[in-house]
Amino acid sequence: MAYFDNNATTRPSAEVRAAFDQALRESWGNPSSPCRSGVEVRVRLDQARECIARSLEVDAGSVTFTSGSTEANNAVFAHAARFFEPSARALVSSIEHPSVLAPADHWFAERAQTVPVEPTGVIDLGHVSSLLDEVSGVRFVSLMAANNETGVLQPWREVADLCREREIHFHCDATQWIGKLPSCGFSACSSLSASAHKLGGPKGVGILVSDLPRPFILGGSQEGGRRSGTENYPAVKAMSVACEGMSSLLPEFPDRSCWRDSFETRMLVDFPGLQILGKEVPRLWNTSMLLMPDYENLRYVGKLDKLGFEVSTGSACSIGKDDASSVPLAMGFSPEQAKRLVRISSYAEQTESDWMSLATAFCDARDELDQDSSGSSVISP
Ligand code: PMP
Repeated sequence: MAYFDNNATTRPSAEVRAAFDQALRESWGNPSSPCRSGVEVRVRLDQARECIARSLEVDAGSVTFTSGSTEANNAVFAHAARFFEPSARALVSSIEHPSVLAPADHWFAERAQTVPVEPTGVIDLGHVSSLLDEVSGVRFVSLMAANNETGVLQPWREVADLCREREIHFHCDATQWIGKLPSCGFSACSSLSASAHKLGGPKGVGILVSDLPRPFILGGSQEGGRRSGTENYPAVKAMSVACEGMSSLLPEFPDRSCWRDSFETRMLVDFPGLQILGKEVPRLWNTSMLLMPDYENLRYVGKLDKLGFEVSTGSACSIGKDDASSVPLAMGFSPEQAKRLVRISSYAEQTESDWMSLATAFCDARDELDQDSSGSSVISP
């Protein structure tokens, strides 16, 4: 199978699996224990923290291990809502992940304002700037670095600067950026979230980078008192090995956008009427969100699967829900169009020839769908 659903999750490399396995066998002590096996793991945990912080160019002292970005995003909103003044307002972009939109709604309710995006999928920086000047009491802004569905990059560095000038907390969900593009500039964010499994690490571990002054999970005072609960050292170690692996690949990743671009050029010829979301603006080099001219997306997913290609319909978090994902709707597409979206996302292992074979498979899938529908019209006049 050729796997093209890397924005949902990535395959851990042999080195990552070996590091996880070794840590599980040899470093199973509790890092909070005073005995030898505990102290050894404590030292290793902090070495892994240093390694991850180095590759993200952030301060190791502000890295808190979490179960992933969902927990980190939730924690930062809950913290802001509880410790900022009761009238504090929050701004969030309309294309944020549900793990940002839902806590914004839960904790800030009518004090949260959604900032629209342009039809290209990029937030309007001028609009953010005027909202910051006009809406009184804004104390918290959340903007993702790169969108998980379209790959469209957001002006997070500029928004971080606007917030810093006004002493506003700026949170960046960097889950899709980290591991695909260089991490420089993240120290300008007040807080940052990331998940290991998006960059070749295991699931169930991630980070919140922030100097939150109060705990967000109470109990045993681990993680500098910020997040209680025994740390999952094997997963943390595997995340640090994944970070080292991605750091060595980062220089060559952006050049791979030409493989995706050639795929899209071919698709545009073979599928008249095809639209590609965010094509006119900077995107992650690995992502292509296709609005197919015909047939519902799940029919393509099924046909492509039989042909040996795994693709997706969008965010893994919105699959199974009846509502369309909010991202295409925020970009001005209709719910009917959203049902024709197919997301392709590569990562380290997919080759140029995989992309070209995928374009061929799309044509085969469409031919089969055409045949299915002409057959069914004979059966049911
Ligand atoms: N934010 C973004 C942008 C994501 O793509 C995801 C995962 N789809 C998350 C947050 C949540 O990550 P996790 O499920 O690992 O907590």
